[in-house]
Amino acid sequence: MPADPISLIVAPLALALGILLALATTYDIVVFRRRKSKDESVYRCARCRHIYTEHRRTPLARCPKCEHQNEPTRD
Ligand SMILES: [Zn+2]
Repeated sequence: MPADPISLIVAPLALALGILLALATTYDIVVFRRRKSKDESVYRCARCRHIYTEHRRTPLARCPKCEHQNEPTRD
């Protein structure tokens, strides 16, 4: 009895699809975790217009160029 031609095509396709889905899910989880763990604030100096980031989320951060205290521009 020869193998069913439809199952010969469908089985590898289903396997490939399953692997792709697993990879996509893993990628999504990794990217989401990375974004969530990236707790960095962007600051723009009001005095010298220098843009810099601070790893800690602080209400005020000192500008590395002119030492002026600035508030974060966005969360
Ligand atoms: Zn500055």
